[in-house]
Amino acid sequence: MSRGRVVLVTGSTSGIGLGIAKEFASQGYDIGLNGFGERKEIQSIEREIKENFGVQVFYSDADMSKPSEVERFVGNANDVLGAIDVLINNAGVQHVSPVEHFPTDKWDLILAVNLSSAFHMSRLLIPSMRTQRFGRIINIASAHGLVASMNKSAYVAAKHGLIGFTKTVALEVAESGVTCNAICPGWVETPLVKVQVEALSSEKSLSQEEVIRDLILERQPTRKFVQIEQVAALALFLASEQASSITGSSYSIDGGWTAH
Ligand code: NAD
Repeated sequence: MSRGRVVLVTGSTSGIGLGIAKEFASQGYDIGLNGFGERKEIQSIEREIKENFGVQVFYSDADMSKPSEVERFVGNANDVLGAIDVLINNAGVQHVSPVEHFPTDKWDLILAVNLSSAFHMSRLLIPSMRTQRFGRIINIASAHGLVASMNKSAYVAAKHGLIGFTKTVALEVAESGVTCNAICPGWVETPLVKVQVEALSSEKSLSQEEVIRDLILERQPTRKFVQIEQVAALALFLASEQASSITGSSYSIDGGWTAH
């Protein structure tokens, strides 16, 4: 008997991850949500997705910085949703500081959430993807997986690492019907960016509009934020049957940033 496809999205209570979860739900995927936030807000996200799209939704508050919690997420999601077809490694955190002042606990956290959680999720899900001879692993990297910016050493290292990890996994699973790709967004207006805009605004005594125009979008030739829905549409395509020959690739969706 055929069943609906299942997607797990790490860090999907907000921003890009939530947008991706909704896009997949709109196409009939059952959804495994994960991330932090107010319980009431998350319950309303779960309800909204179920009511709008008639799919199953499972939520886990597992902390992606901890391997045992990643195992809990995968185990519980398997119990509720069955075999997983698509894995979106999206959970991410940021901290901005010169390298010599970079707090070591922030370094460890960024590497754990932005890079190591993708390893743990992948190692746990690849065996069943191989068995069902279908799987899609999509890693949300960043323009910072391809180029650097000052004061973001941990994030840039983690995202470059994620692209290397993507290529290696793609080679290992290439004959098994499983693909592994990365998406590299430029600036997308989400809570992760809002915090940086607010910090720059007080540090440089500029309005938030000036920060966005002169500092943030200065890197992005289109001078526009990438839309969450645009990232989600690319993820959906990479998950499709038509994308079965695309593997080990990194897709820039950055308004021309990395064309510089
Ligand atoms: P966001 O802050 O809106 O969302 C991050 C999500 O990750 C939230 O759901 C949060 O609860 C979750 N999360 C954080 N720490 C976690 C942990 N330890 N365990 C489980 N979940 C955790 O951020 P966003 O902008 O939507 O970013 C999503 C991804 O996209 C990140 O990997 C980020 O690096 C990447 N990205 C964002 C941009 C951008 O401009 N916003 C650009 C390029 C790449």
